[in-house]
Amino acid sequence: MSEPLVVIGNGMAAMHLVEELTRRALGRYAIAVIGEEPRLAYNRVLLSAVLAQEVSRSEIELRPARWWSHRGVTLLYGRTATAIDPTIRRVRLADGATLPYARIALATGSRPIRLRVPGMELPGVVTFRDLGDVATIEAAARRGARAVVIGGGLLGLEAAHGLAKAGSQVTIVHLMDRLMERQLDARAAGMLKKALEARGVTVHLNAETVGIYGKGRAQAVALKDGTQIEADLVVVAAGIRPNVELAHGANLGIDRGILVDDHLQTSRPGIYAIGECAEHRGVCYGLVEPTYEQARVLAAHLAGEEAHYPGSVLATNLKVSGVNVFSAGDFLGAAGTEQLVLSDPGLDAYKKLVVLGRRLVGAVLFGDTVDGLWYLDLIRSGASIEAIRDDIVFGRTLAERKAA
Ligand SMILES: Cc1cc2nc3c(=O)[nH]c(=O)nc-3n(C[C@H](O)[C@H](O)[C@H](O)COP(=O)(O)OP(=O)(O)OC[C@H]3O[C@@H](n4cnc5c(N)ncnc54)[C@H](O)[C@@H]3O)c2cc1C
Repeated sequence: MSEPLVVIGNGMAAMHLVEELTRRALGRYAIAVIGEEPRLAYNRVLLSAVLAQEVSRSEIELRPARWWSHRGVTLLYGRTATAIDPTIRRVRLADGATLPYARIALATGSRPIRLRVPGMELPGVVTFRDLGDVATIEAAARRGARAVVIGGGLLGLEAAHGLAKAGSQVTIVHLMDRLMERQLDARAAGMLKKALEARGVTVHLNAETVGIYGKGRAQAVALKDGTQIEADLVVVAAGIRPNVELAHGANLGIDRGILVDDHLQTSRPGIYAIGECAEHRGVCYGLVEPTYEQARVLAAHLAGEEAHYPGSVLATNLKVSGVNVFSAGDFLGAAGTEQLVLSDPGLDAYKKLVVLGRRLVGAVLFGDTVDGLWYLDLIRSGASIEAIRDDIVFGRTLAERKAA
């Protein structure tokens, strides 16, 4: 008989887990997926493209309804799991229903952090995490509206780009001294700022938001230095926090995220966590690739195969049309590393490769990013670059031709 496996969350991690598991061991588990959002799983990464009106909502659906039913999955979307009761091995839903489980995969993702400043609850202050948020932003962002995006990380920049493309006047307010400081060095971040400004986006750095003000709805963002920025819409993209409440209620080990071992198992046997809600070896990832790697390892483990998750090397691509940015690994360059730099200000191109001994350990690319994945492969594999070191910064074609 199939063992009941309950997957909680119907996002990118859940879809990939079901795909990998049914490919390896179709029928071994009777799978039920519970998802709070009232729709089939979709590609969250493309929300900014939806906002920018580059793709439609239906185009970002990950798999059609029949894909789930062909795999025998019971799909309960628009339903929220509220508790796990390990003593009777049942998951409780908000509507009172309960589901039996032999195993659980928590894939509850994360939610946007709301700043602790006055005015966060005003109408017109929104976050950017799901299709519901996109609908709220679209409703508020009429053509010519003044939009302030709080947060100059990947998400904030993509929200800013989507809003600017849809006709809003956009200002980014960022606490740090450079944009995307978790992925870019000062040079690339400076080039990015210039490129955004050339697209009509205003950028405030070292800017701490101290409040959002308005009568009945958001009308201005106040900064610590006294600046007031008028706003019809405020998008808060100031970071994410893993959804750990269910795990907390079930007394699972939690730090920032739900603690998992190399099998993605939580502190309780038979309950696993993957994706943005999980914390592995001290790291909570906020990107799709680690999420998919974890889903693959968990699927293999559940299918009875030997599999371990060793952690992921992070890589990021900014999806702002016409602004190509790529970053991977140790992009700043820790002590003991060397840096190979190619810069052409005329072409707005910049490339920095970070080398440790014979290995490539990090990369930042601005402008020409076509070799990003090749550099990423070299970083991940740890292969020796000795034979191509002189030419590696000029790109794959030249480096491999000369090495041949
Ligand atoms: C606008 C945007 C752009 C992004 N761009 C990139 C990018 O370019 N590259 C990249 O790598 N990553 C990007 N990301 C991050 C990426 O989308 C996430 O890393 C990925 O979605 C994580 O997958 P997940 O399944 O862990 O979480 P999610 O996809 O968030 O899925 C979790 C799901 O669980 C549901 N849920 C939570 N609690 C419950 C409950 N109690 N009961 C039932 N359901 C529940 C949630 O409603 C949600 O639908 C972006 C994210 C956003 C928002």
